Amino acid sequence: MTGRVVTPGVVAAAGLLGILLGPLLRRQIFRYVLPGGRSCPHCAALLGVPTRWNPLGVPSPTGRCPRCREAVGPRTGLVEVVAAAVFAALAARTDGVLPLLAYAWIAGFGIVLGFVDVAVRRLPDRLTLPAAAGLAGLLGAAALTSGQVGRYAVAAASALALAGAYLGLVLLSPGGLGPGDVKLAIGLGLATGWYGWSSTLYGALAGLLLASGYAAVLLRLRRIGRRDHLPHGPAMLTGALGAVLLAA
Ligand SMILES: [Zn+2]
Repeated sequence: MTGRVVTPGVVAAAGLLGILLGPLLRRQIFRYVLPGGRSCPHCAALLGVPTRWNPLGVPSPTGRCPRCREAVGPRTGLVEVVAAAVFAALAARTDGVLPLLAYAWIAGFGIVLGFVDVAVRRLPDRLTLPAAAGLAGLLGAAALTSGQVGRYAVAAASALALAGAYLGLVLLSPGGLGPGDVKLAIGLGLATGWYGWSSTLYGALAGLLLASGYAAVLLRLRRIGRRDHLPHGPAMLTGALGAVLLAA
């Protein structure tokens, strides 16, 4: 173990990084939720595309189309606030540089996945698979450099077990969960399993509780019917994040 070397400065820097990365995450969200991956749904203006004055194609954190001023994508500042809070919390709880990089990696993908799933009920392979692969590589490097190969094996086994459990749920209730949830479970099983298989279990249970609680509230408010399907990704992500923060 490298020991925790967290200072208030590191946490503040991670939060600031989240605010700065927010618009870039917003651009990734646009790719999956806007018509053609980049057009304003109201006036068809191209959003998040590189221009001479904006070479990274960074969208405005205001969540509004610069041409027609209509709301587009996540609301004002929401991605930025979520990213700042998640990165700062992970920086406060994670020990060592490589684990922090590993969790920042999956958190960046996870934030995009959560917003995309809410908007279009999809967890694209192009996000879930690199999220898991990058985490596997960075945690693997952390394990090798700190002599924690056994801990890595537990994380890998947890990833397989969680993905297998979600695959079972998909096969049992084909309309509810989807293959995207299974692929997300690989990365989340790895992320929580690094802190032991019990963290994977608690994270998964918290995710299922959050999802069913959210569905119960919406049913009560008659915002959804019994046959509606809700996005499951945000609850899985929140449950896993909670398990990691409590265990770290
Ligand atoms: Zn517009």
